[in-house]
Order: sequence, then C-alpha cells, then structure tokens
Amino acid sequence: MRSAIPSHRGSRFLIAAAFPLLLSFSHVTSAQVIHDYSVTLEPGLKRMSVEARFASKERQIAARARDANDVLIEARDCDTGKKIRVRGRHLVSPAAGFRCLRYTIDLQRAARNERRNASLSAENFIVSPAVWLWRPELDESTSIRVHFNLPDEIRVSVPWPEESRNTFLLGRSPESANATVVFGRFEYHELSVPQATLRVSLVKSDTAMNTDTILSWLAATATDITLAYGRFPNPSPQIVVLPAGVRGRTDRSFRTGSTKAVRFGRVVRDGGESVELFVNHSAPLEKFLLDWTATHEFSHLMLPYVSRKQKWISEGFAQYYQNILLARSGAYEPAHAWQKLYNGLERGRKSRPELSPNGAAAGNFRDGLMKVYWSGAALALLADMQLREQSDGAESLDLALDRLQACCLPATEVWTGPELMARLDSMVSSPVFMPLYRQYANTAGFPDVSNALEQLGVHITNGKVELHNDAKLAAIRSSMTKMDPQTARWRQRLAVN
Ligand SMILES: [Zn+2]
Repeated sequence: MRSAIPSHRGSRFLIAAAFPLLLSFSHVTSAQVIHDYSVTLEPGLKRMSVEARFASKERQIAARARDANDVLIEARDCDTGKKIRVRGRHLVSPAAGFRCLRYTIDLQRAARNERRNASLSAENFIVSPAVWLWRPELDESTSIRVHFNLPDEIRVSVPWPEESRNTFLLGRSPESANATVVFGRFEYHELSVPQATLRVSLVKSDTAMNTDTILSWLAATATDITLAYGRFPNPSPQIVVLPAGVRGRTDRSFRTGSTKAVRFGRVVRDGGESVELFVNHSAPLEKFLLDWTATHEFSHLMLPYVSRKQKWISEGFAQYYQNILLARSGAYEPAHAWQKLYNGLERGRKSRPELSPNGAAAGNFRDGLMKVYWSGAALALLADMQLREQSDGAESLDLALDRLQACCLPATEVWTGPELMARLDSMVSSPVFMPLYRQYANTAGFPDVSNALEQLGVHITNGKVELHNDAKLAAIRSSMTKMDPQTARWRQRLAVN
C-alpha cells in the first residue's frame, strides 16, 4: 500500500517515484546472467518451497548461515527428481551439475531460531535469507530474480530492489551482516522524498504503535538527508521499524535501557541496503524528531560500505553529518550542533590516545569506541572546511558526496578507506581527503581540530561553545549548518500537530 503522504508536507516532497525506480536497477542493465527463483509460502506459513532455475548448470550452491542445513527439509533436481546431498553449507551436484533445484524450508523452525521473533506478535516474523536462500556466488554480471507467491494478506519485506510486485532483483553486494526479511501481516508504506522511495515496513509487536508518528518522523529524517545534496543517497532502501524490545546480538551497545524514542539503529548491506530502527512506540513525535539515530544511520548510506578496518571513516562521516544535517533542518540551533560536535570530538581525543584511528578500529577496544566514532568526524570536518576554503565556497564535502553517489552508489563491493579517499579526491579540484588520511590514519592520537575550530569561530570556554562571527572562516561555518527554512517550518508544524 502506498501511504497517504501527510498533506502538511508541502509539494516539494511529492516528487514522483518513477525516475528513482529506474535508477535503482541501473546496475542490472550490465547483468547478462539471471537466475530465476520462485518462492512459494504455504498458507499457515509453516513451510516455504523454492524452485531455482539457473542460467547455466551449477555444480554447487550455498547458503550463508551455518544452521541453514537445520531448516532444509529436502532438495531435489527438478529434471531428474534425484535428491541433492548437503555438505555443510553446500548443496552439491552428484554429476555434471543441475539446471533447476526444488527445495523445501521448515519456515516455522527457521522463525523459532531467530531470537528477534520472541518479541514480535505472531502475525509477523523475521527469517534471514542467509538461512533459506541457497544460491550460486554472484559476480558483477549475475543477478537472481526472486518472485514470491504469497498467501492472501501476507506480505514480504526484503532489502533487494523491487522489479515488480513481489518480484525482486538480488545483485552482488557487500555482506555486512545477514539481511532481514520479514514475512506476515505487518504495515507497509512507501515514503517519497526527493528522488527516492523508502520501502518502510512496520513490524508488529503486542504493543500498539502510532503509525502517523513513525511515518512523520521517518519522512522528516529522510528529508534531512536530502539537505546534503538534494536527494536521498539510495533510490529505494528497505526500512524496517521494530519494537525496541527486539534486541539482536548487535543491540548490546550503550544505547540500551533508556527512554529514548529510538533505542538503536543499524545499516545492513546484504543484497541491498536496509536500515533497521528499534523504536520505543510510546514516545511522542517531539521526542522522535529530536532523536539523531535515524539521521546517523541514513547518513551512512552516503558512503559505500567501508571495510571494518577503516570503519572509523564511515562512523565519523555519519557523526559529522547527523549534527550538521539536524542544524540544517532546524532541529538543532547551530550552536547546539557545534556543541555536540565539539563534545564528541573531545571524547574522541581522550579515547585511547596511544592508538591511531586504524589501530582503534582494528582492535575493537571497548574504551576505543569514541576514537572510532569521532576521528572520522574530525577528518570530515577538516576536509569540508578545506574544500570550502580553497574553492571559495564552490566545493564542499556535500559536493564530493553528491558526485560519489552519482558515480558509485549503491556500491556492489566493500571499499577500503584509501579507495574511498582517493575516489573522493577525484571528485574535487584539489585533493584533501588522501592527504588527511595519510596524516592521521596510522598516527597515534587524534586529528587536531583546535585550529580549525578557532578559524571557524567556534570558541570554547570551560567546555562551552560560543559562535563568533568575526572569525576568519565564520562564513564557512555558517554555510556548513545553514538552515533550510522550508524544512524547518515543516518540522515545526509536525512537532505541534
Ligand atoms: Zn554508525
């Protein structure tokens, strides 16, 4: 169902979705090989049967999850009817290979194995394709078309780009974690923001949720992201909103146990890009509108998936943008945004000073987390400032990321930090990213931002930020956090309605 877009949203948020949908399949035009999967769910959702027709003979296919074998009931060659043997996570052809496979999955058991389902209502459940999608390796020129045959009133939510109703195209992508696929009766809405349609699934628990609150917050936050360069970085991401009680293994972080509107969020890149948000359904809209979690997670989509070894870059860029964008949308006063940036940069500076950013990211130290989260924010700030200064305002981090999106996103591969830096430098007239990376990535300590803050007119007295307009680069500082009046007015109206 296409959601009714709140009428107070204003006409510029109603850009048609046809153009972005074309864009989302642009990577497929180069694909010559398509495997066809037809997935049928039984009424009652106890079992799922899959018929996989391959473009050529396959000798073996695999499932990603270690326990995939536990929920596989049987697999047969469609042509010969012969049973296919399982070896660990592989289905192996006895002879020259198979062109078609039919296999059955114990969906109920798979759903029981997924611990997040314990907190969901019986109407919907999550089962990752890592458990049920047995498939060949994909390269740049290979995709899998997956068509779902669903019982009445049953929906499916997947991260893969949608080709037509219930038909999706899964291409090569990073595998940052196991994708979430939701089956059952849950709410589905499509939210339009400039040049993107967010495919939003609201997963049900036994606690009632306020759909309007959730959708207004997501629309506002997704719009904030478009204040970087005029559009959302992924034309059709999967957004999954889950009740905060659902806690995966990744949710043992510092954000638990609070009354925050958004308890936790994460980006998963596995066959497509998705953002999962764990929310407190009883929080009022005002609280959602001041929460930074979704802005942070959506900001991640402005970069490709960066190797864990340099995750400080992607975390830092997201930290920088969440504060800058919340100022641009009017949610934060500029001084508040700079205070938050300064506080974070200070936490980063004090965190494990004997380690370099690369060292902190590689070691996974509990007390090195702030270094990982903030050294990349320092790099983003310095790069943004230098770009604006050397180009007299013609270039910025926004512009470099705008061009990066146009050339390379959503990315099908994992990027290294240096690859990203070099590519960003190729987007601007004079390099800033690689020089900063070389200076700081493997150097113990923290990028020195004190001089930059001083020049920008961000004065610190006893830890408190004051903005001075007579500083050398004060105009650059103002342009970084320049408020978009239309978005700010819209956000204000949302908050009081
Ligand atoms: Zn993050």
